[in-house]
Amino acid sequence: MIIFNKPGALNNFLETNRSDKNKIGFVPTMGALHPGHISLIEAARKENDVIISSIFVNPTQFNDPEDFKKYPVTLEKDILLLETARCDVLFIPSVRDIYPAGINNLSHYDLGYLETVLEGKYRPGHFQGVCQVVHRLLEIVLPSNLYLGQKDYQQCKVIQRLIALIGFDEKIRVNISPTLREHDGLAMSSRNTRLDKEQRKIANAIFKTLLFIKSNLHTMEIGQLKTAASSSLIEKGFKVDYVEMADANTLQLVDTWDGRQKIIALAAAFLGPVRLIDNMVLNP
Ligand code: AMP
Repeated sequence: MIIFNKPGALNNFLETNRSDKNKIGFVPTMGALHPGHISLIEAARKENDVIISSIFVNPTQFNDPEDFKKYPVTLEKDILLLETARCDVLFIPSVRDIYPAGINNLSHYDLGYLETVLEGKYRPGHFQGVCQVVHRLLEIVLPSNLYLGQKDYQQCKVIQRLIALIGFDEKIRVNISPTLREHDGLAMSSRNTRLDKEQRKIANAIFKTLLFIKSNLHTMEIGQLKTAASSSLIEKGFKVDYVEMADANTLQLVDTWDGRQKIIALAAAFLGPVRLIDNMVLNP
């Protein structure tokens, strides 16, 4: 695996590959890698000639400075994992490399409704930060395929919108991989390492709550399902930001279901200082 720190050097390397008509698959990450990230590399390996991943903890997408400070960093282990997964290229830029003109006065993206609900509502500015870094990374890497995880469902929608906004939708195909889970159902996440033993034991309650919603969808009203789900999380010690149900394509929140519309349940809740998110599509 070749490691690049500088956008210019990476771009030169990729230019050679582009002129050889190779397909470039890109997996952007913030590091602290786990099998969920590696599943994206594996998906990319099946469809591309060159696999590139990036590790960059993007300061502009953290609405909570404590979360940024405490974001886990495990670079040596990450490099080993990526090498084992046969990733070809790793890009590890600095903040200066990504934002040469500083982090003030960066572009603003018109994300419309998507930025006003769920994560957008509870993490103001977060998706602007996501767009700023992804836009810059896409300009540097210019991949044929981009790999994202369903774990961050709303982020997938935001990035699809970004790609359309910046006119890359003809050039870049977005591929969304299913959420990888621990044996007890907890969605794998870099932030899980910050849970203490007791918190870790109950952290899978979010997954169980989503399962509860899915299995009672035909017998209970949406409002009742949301209330029951939130209450059970609160009872276990979570501080709930939201448990919502939404149209799986538009993310418009729903309070009734006609039995046909494709819908998704999404939840975000704190266990101590650690904020966990998860989602589950409720019908095929
Ligand atoms: P992050 O490093 O958390 O920014 O995540 C980098 C990419 O990995 C994003 O596209 C995430 O959605 C994806 N990802 C994170 N956790 C998982 C998981 N448990 N399963 C599949 N993909 C994941």
